[in-house]
Amino acid sequence: MILAQGKHPRTLGIENEDRYWGRGLSVCSTCDAPLFRDKVVAIVGGGNSALQTAIEMSGIAQEVHLIVRSTIKADETYIRLYEQKKNITTHNNAIISALQGADTLSAITIKDRDSGSETEVAVDGIFLEIGWIPNTAFVEGLVNMNDQKEIEIDINCHTSVPGIFAAGDVTNLKTKQIITAAGEGAKAALSAYEYLMQ
Ligand SMILES: Cc1cc2nc3c(=O)[nH]c(=O)nc-3n(C[C@H](O)[C@H](O)[C@H](O)COP(=O)(O)OP(=O)(O)OC[C@H]3O[C@@H](n4cnc5c(N)ncnc54)[C@H](O)[C@@H]3O)c2cc1C
Repeated sequence: MILAQGKHPRTLGIENEDRYWGRGLSVCSTCDAPLFRDKVVAIVGGGNSALQTAIEMSGIAQEVHLIVRSTIKADETYIRLYEQKKNITTHNNAIISALQGADTLSAITIKDRDSGSETEVAVDGIFLEIGWIPNTAFVEGLVNMNDQKEIEIDINCHTSVPGIFAAGDVTNLKTKQIITAAGEGAKAALSAYEYLMQ
C-alpha cells in the first residue's frame, strides 16, 4: 500500500469563507500574487510563511496588512527583511472576524483580541498562511507520525509498518513540491515492488 493523500489548508473557520475562495481569498501567493498588483491585500499568519508572503507581496501590492493572532514568531532572516518594508501594517493580537463583498472580497473586519474592538478594512484579497493539515486522520494509530501528523518515512519511503509506503505532502519530507512528490512516488513504487518480490 502506498499512502499519498496530500494535505489541506487550515482555514479561518468564519462565515463566507467558501464564498470568497478563489474570489479574493487564496492560500497560494506564488499562484495568485500577480492578481493583486498595486492593490491592497491582507496576509493572515505570524510565522515564516506569512512573513515570506508579506515580504513578497509588499513588492507587488500597494499596501499589505499582516494579521497576527498573537505576535510574530519567525526566523531572523525573514524578520530583518520584513522590518525594512514600509508598506506593511501589522495588526498584532488580532483575528479576521468577518469577510465582506458582493461577487468578490472587498473588505475584512479585523478584531483586536484584547479589547474586542472591530475595524473594517477595505482589501482586494487575503492570503491565508496559517498552516496545512495532512490528510492522515484515517491512518492515525496505523503508521508512525510526527507531531504535525505527517507520516514518518525513511529515505526509501518505508513507513513504520512493513508493506505500507508513503510519498509526497502526506509525509515528513521537508520539501512539499510537485517535483519532489512525484520523485517520492516513484521511490515508493520501487520500494513496494522490491517488497513484493521478497
Ligand atoms: C494552491 C497550491 C499551489 C501550489 N503550487 C505549486 C507550484 O507552483 N509548484 C510546485 O512544485 N508545487 C506547488 N504546490 C505544491 C504541490 O501541489 C504539492 O506539493 C503536490 O501536489 C503534492 O503531491 P501529493 O501527490 O503528495 O498530494 P496532492 O497533490 O495533494 O494529492 C493528494 C490526492 O489524494 C486525494 N486524497 C485525499 N485524501 C484521500 C483519501 N482518504 N483517500 C483517497 N484519496 C485521498 C486528494 O483528493 C488528492 O487528489 C502547490 C500547492 C497548492 C495547494
